[in-house]
Amino acid sequence: MNAVPITFYAKAEHAQGLQDSFGRKLNYLRISVTDRCNMRCDYCRPSADAYQAEPRSHILSFEEITRIVRVAASLGVNKVRITGGEPLVRKDLSTLIAQIAAIDGITDLAMTSNATYLAKYAQALKDAGLSRINISLDTLNPLRFKKLTGSELQPVLDGIQAASDAGLFPLKLNTVLMKGINENEVPSLIDFATEIGATIRFIELMPMKQGMDWDKHYIGIDEILQRDDVQARVDISPMQTGNTAARYLPLKDGRGEVGFIMPMSERFCEGCNRLRLTSDGGLRSCLPADKQMNIRDVIRAGGSDADIRGVFLRSALIKPEIGIYEFDGKADKRSMIHIGG
Ligand code: SAM
Repeated sequence: MNAVPITFYAKAEHAQGLQDSFGRKLNYLRISVTDRCNMRCDYCRPSADAYQAEPRSHILSFEEITRIVRVAASLGVNKVRITGGEPLVRKDLSTLIAQIAAIDGITDLAMTSNATYLAKYAQALKDAGLSRINISLDTLNPLRFKKLTGSELQPVLDGIQAASDAGLFPLKLNTVLMKGINENEVPSLIDFATEIGATIRFIELMPMKQGMDWDKHYIGIDEILQRDDVQARVDISPMQTGNTAARYLPLKDGRGEVGFIMPMSERFCEGCNRLRLTSDGGLRSCLPADKQMNIRDVIRAGGSDADIRGVFLRSALIKPEIGIYEFDGKADKRSMIHIGG
C-alpha cells in the first residue's frame, strides 16, 4: 500500500489512545510471528498440500515487529500476545520476547503455543520476559491427537509441565470443540487441567478457511453444558453475560473454573479490544473481516513511525462494529494459520 495518504491520520492527537469508530479502545495486539507450524490441524488450515507458506522474505523481522510494537505502545497498546502458526518454530523467539518485554508501556506479554517445543524453551521464554502462556490441547488420546494434528501428544504434555515448572502462570489450555471428534472428552480434559493447576477453555469451532467440514463438526457450548458429565463438574448457574471473549464458570469442587469461548453462538464484538498483525505485516482489526492494511510495505518503503502510526489509526477506523463469519469458504487467505490465531 502507499504510505502517503495516511499522513493525515498520523497528525491526529492520540491522547485517548487507539479508538475505533464505535468508541472501543484497542489496547491488545496479537502478533503472528510465523505462518509455519509443526502441526497439521484440519480446523486451522486447508489440507497440508493446499497451503503454501509465505516466502521467508515476506515475513516480518524481529526488528520490524519490535518497531511496530513500539509504535503501537505509543498509541496505548499495552497487551501483546505472540502467536502463529506455531511461534516456537521461529528461531530465537526468546530474543523477540526480550525486545518486546523491554518496550515502555507493554504490561502484559503472553503467547499461544501448541507446546511441542516448550520443554526446551519454557524457562528461556520466562527469563526473557514472557508473562504467561495458552496451550492448545484438543484431546488427551494419543491416537486421536496424532490423527488430528499429525504430531505426538507426549512432547505437548512435557511442554505443559515445563511451562508450569517455569512459572508461566496463569497457565491456560485451549480446546477447540469438534462434534464427533473430541466432544466427549470435555470431562476428562477438565479433570486433567484441574490436576495440573491450569484453566481450560473450550472454544467453538469457527468457519475459517480450513480442511475440516464446519457444518459437520460444529457444536455449540450450550449443548456441551447440558451434559450430565459436564454438569457433574461445572456449576452452570452463574454464567455471566458480558463482553469478554471468555466466560468462566466455577468448578463444583471449588478447585478453579472453566472458560467458554463462544464466537459463534454469542458474539463478543461489543467489548473487542483487539488488533492482529499477520506474520507478513498485515494489520487486521477484525478476525473474520478480510480487510487489512500492510505495515511491512510501509516500513520497507522507508515509512516513518508516524506513517506506521497512521496505519494503526486507519485500521482502527475500519474495524467493523460486528465481525461476521461467512460460510462460503471463498475468501482466499482466511485460514487461522495464515492470519494468526
Ligand atoms: N500454534 C499455536 C497453537 O496451536 O496454539 C498458535 C496458533 S493457533 C492458530 C491459535 C489458536 O487458534 C488455537 O487455540 C487453535 O485451537 C485456534 N483455532 C484455529 N483454528 C480455529 C477454528 N477454525 N476455530 C476455532 N479455533 C481455532
